[in-house]
Amino acid sequence: MSLPPITLTGHMQKEAWQNKLLPPVEQLNNDVWSIPVPFPNNPMRYTLSYLLLGDGDAVLIDPGWDSEAGLDHLIRGLRQAGIGLRDLTGIVATHYHSDHLGMAARLRVKSGAWVALGDREVRRLSACEDEDLVVLRDREELTLWGVPADRLAEVAMDKPTLAHLQNLADPDLRLQDGELVPAKGLDLSVITTPGHSPGHICLVDAPHGLIFSGDHVLPRISPHIALELPGPPNPLEDYYESLDRVAFEDVMEVCPAHEYRFRGMQRRAAQLVEHNRERSAEVLSVMNRHRPQTIWDIARHLTWSRGWDSLQAFSLRLAVSETASHVMYLRSRGHSIDIPVTLPSPAAHVNSAS
Ligand SMILES: [Zn+2]
Repeated sequence: MSLPPITLTGHMQKEAWQNKLLPPVEQLNNDVWSIPVPFPNNPMRYTLSYLLLGDGDAVLIDPGWDSEAGLDHLIRGLRQAGIGLRDLTGIVATHYHSDHLGMAARLRVKSGAWVALGDREVRRLSACEDEDLVVLRDREELTLWGVPADRLAEVAMDKPTLAHLQNLADPDLRLQDGELVPAKGLDLSVITTPGHSPGHICLVDAPHGLIFSGDHVLPRISPHIALELPGPPNPLEDYYESLDRVAFEDVMEVCPAHEYRFRGMQRRAAQLVEHNRERSAEVLSVMNRHRPQTIWDIARHLTWSRGWDSLQAFSLRLAVSETASHVMYLRSRGHSIDIPVTLPSPAAHVNSAS
């Protein structure tokens, strides 16, 4: 079934995306700026950070990956908008991933701004957890999913990755669904949209007709919905519910954290639902045709844009954890899939929101 296409609005961004360039800083209206921040060594190439200017308050959404080059771009973007780092009063990350929250810790030190996350967001790792235990547990889970022993080192979390996660900013504020971001002169309300991460949020600036969608809704890529252990048991079901929550209208301009701006939230949400439903159907058909014994076995029979054999390291991890999220969803819909997905979760491993 082909669904109606979305309407492109970020023309310069799309051109830059196609040409593999960093898009320009753009002023969207009097008070809102889009500032691309480089995301080095990643096919996404940049995070779109948004600056909102209020009455003496200035809030940055998704400051992006922490790097010197990123900070440099951000400072130049702020300057174009007429402010300096010290004028920032708040930083909101749509979710905890390093390409969104990454630079917040450093910016907080330089600016004194508060850092906010959604109240349901769970950081993958808090500073107080035992690294060795986390690594061990991660490997146990991947083994349960059928990741072969000779691919384990490639797919598993390593200590540098953990160190990166541990260095992320702990939030000063937690934002609840329906709450207004506490900044004078801004009318920015929170919609809780779990799925891509346990406590992802979108932000609505109704006076300017803008929705900041983070990674919940992107114009071209279907956001990755992974089963994270520990984490919510059915992230794909959460994601469907969260798509419903943002698809309340189709006219506002959607300002995503990657790729380019567009109009048509309802249209895009419908496409994303369809994409995931097709994927679940494919998982069921692999179950019937190949009788797989593990998550890995299912994953290798699914279609991947560049082929299963091209998947390596982190992208292989994403493929396997996405497959696991479909299996959990299908089970919740009454399909009996007798494949090991979760280990019993000892209390010591349960990661609470920091
Ligand atoms: Zn992202």
